[in-house]
Amino acid sequence: IVRYKNVSKSFGETTVLNNLDLDIAKGEKIALIGPSGSGKTTIIRMLMTLEEPSSGTIEVDGEMLWHKEVNGELVPADEKHLRKVRGNIGMVFQQYNLFPHMTILKNCTVAPINVLGINKDEAVARAKEMLEKVGLGDKVDAYPSQLSGGQQQRVAIARSLVMKPKVMLFDEVTAALDPELVGEVLEVIKDIAADGETTMILITHEIDFARDIADRVFFLDSGKIAEYGKPEDVLVNPESERLQSFLSRFH
Ligand code: ATP
Repeated sequence: IVRYKNVSKSFGETTVLNNLDLDIAKGEKIALIGPSGSGKTTIIRMLMTLEEPSSGTIEVDGEMLWHKEVNGELVPADEKHLRKVRGNIGMVFQQYNLFPHMTILKNCTVAPINVLGINKDEAVARAKEMLEKVGLGDKVDAYPSQLSGGQQQRVAIARSLVMKPKVMLFDEVTAALDPELVGEVLEVIKDIAADGETTMILITHEIDFARDIADRVFFLDSGKIAEYGKPEDVLVNPESERLQSFLSRFH
């Protein structure tokens, strides 16, 4: 459902991603791991259309994201095309960025009403269902400041799910949380993963979590996929010294 072909990305002189090929099947859960600066966030920022690839193509659900085909030739996509393809993708960041002056329910209904054009009753019904799913059905009328960090992050996940994205991106969603709140957020993500439908790309430093949830793990090192495969292979019996040394930090 997501396919990177020969994708490179540079900022000025610095090459951040180098000829990346990545093919993700529908419903698959992928974990990206690797040292700081290895290019993980750049990979998913390109999918969110926040960063344009320097070369190569990215497809989402059979459609090119950054390009359009016109008379057999690739031309850069316009804003309308980008917006359309981006509609398939939901993202949850480290910082949950809820609207502080809106209730939890309102936080979850603004985008479906304004972006998807869904009527209010349906948006409310969907939002309540998703808030129930993340264990916050009783908090619909609360404001973000009345919730813990873990609860706010669960709202951010529900808010994203309400849009029914085909692909969900999670970028170190527990990194800003107090350690005792990490578990509840990871549990919610595991629950969503368990229903099988949603394709997920997770950047995480939670190695045990990656092992539990991911179908495949990709180890990024200096802008390249250095090693990948099933979690029980990559995380338990890493081949390269770089990955061995990276993983040894987590024990
Ligand atoms: P982390 O775990 O720290 O988030 P990462 O693996 O996600 O790291 P990226 O955020 O993708 O890494 O960054 C890869 C490299 O690209 C870094 O060296 C970073 O400094 C550089 N970089 C990212 N965005 C920009 C930008 N807008 N301008 C210049 N350099 C950038």
